[in-house]
Amino acid sequence: TAKSRGRGGIAIYQSSAHSVARDMFRIEADLRKAIDRKELELAFQPYVNLAEGRLGGFEALARWNHPERGMISPSDFIPIAEDSGLIVPLGRWAIETACMQLADWRKRCPSAMDLNVGVNVSGLQLAQDDIVGAVEAALVASGLPGGALKVELTESAIVENPELARQIFTKLKQFDISIAMDDFGTGYSSLSYLQQLPIDVLKIDQSFIAGMMKSDDSHKIVTTIIALARNLGMTTVAEGVEEYSQAERLRALGCDSAQGFYFARPMAAKEAEAFINKGVCGPSGESGVEQSID
Ligand code: C2E
Ligand code: MG
Ligand code: MG
Ligand code: MG
Repeated sequence: TAKSRGRGGIAIYQSSAHSVARDMFRIEADLRKAIDRKELELAFQPYVNLAEGRLGGFEALARWNHPERGMISPSDFIPIAEDSGLIVPLGRWAIETACMQLADWRKRCPSAMDLNVGVNVSGLQLAQDDIVGAVEAALVASGLPGGALKVELTESAIVENPELARQIFTKLKQFDISIAMDDFGTGYSSLSYLQQLPIDVLKIDQSFIAGMMKSDDSHKIVTTIIALARNLGMTTVAEGVEEYSQAERLRALGCDSAQGFYFARPMAAKEAEAFINKGVCGPSGESGVEQSID
């Protein structure tokens, strides 16, 4: 639940038991101001088309550079944002900022013309915000076509309210936005949702990728998810690819795209721009995907 996640999240502050509530309250107050004070940033992590060895786009990942506490990871502040309702302004900021950034790259970098951006949307945003309106406003403000945007939701976010998800996804599809199911294989979604909802992309959870070269079972799960996606007309992105051997095997298995530290860590917008302009999809300082995978 959001409550238990929130509690786990603030453990990093090493609070004593009775200061936990006070600490959480302070973080919430700080988060309220963080957007205005520009303490929130988006990091961009590339995903790479495995068959062609080219950059497909970036996932936008929220970062909070707290003036006293330093960098706070999204797994620590997203649960607080959800508990407090701040996920609504935070989520709008993320969608808008990601669209503006990609539009800027598309304008200035010739090789960014076909790139996409993925934005994470939490289940609470579906319930509490007019997500369709927020997305439409961001597309209008940035001038980006809907086809450039991918919305990522976890299985659990969808399962909480499948009927609402279906209505919202249907509207997002009218803008040509693609819908990805994040961390696929770890939630409780029933396979029937894959059939009922207009989902375009399955993002294979990193736990299966981490195990696939060591565990026969993980390898079989990865193979099966790729086949399932293909049979249902969806594409696949492997998350958490850290090694060449995983990337090469995923390509051989027909996985469409991959994302992970092997290619690049999430980076500040400036670094991501350098990555676009280099046109290199391999890990920095080593041979690129074009040499090593093809
Ligand atoms: P996610 O959407 O599944 O994002 C992928 C996470 O895996 C990111 O963690 C990324 O840094 C990490 N990762 C990427 N490649 C590798 C790898 O090769 N190895 C390992 N071990 N990890 C890798 P991050 O940035 O800490 O984000 C964590 C989660 O926070 C995200 O998971 C997403 O669910 C959530 N999140 C991030 N930004 C936002 C946001 O703007 N809105 C919402 N609602 N959630 C967000
Ligand atoms: Mg994601
Ligand atoms: Mg994920
Ligand atoms: Mg995740």
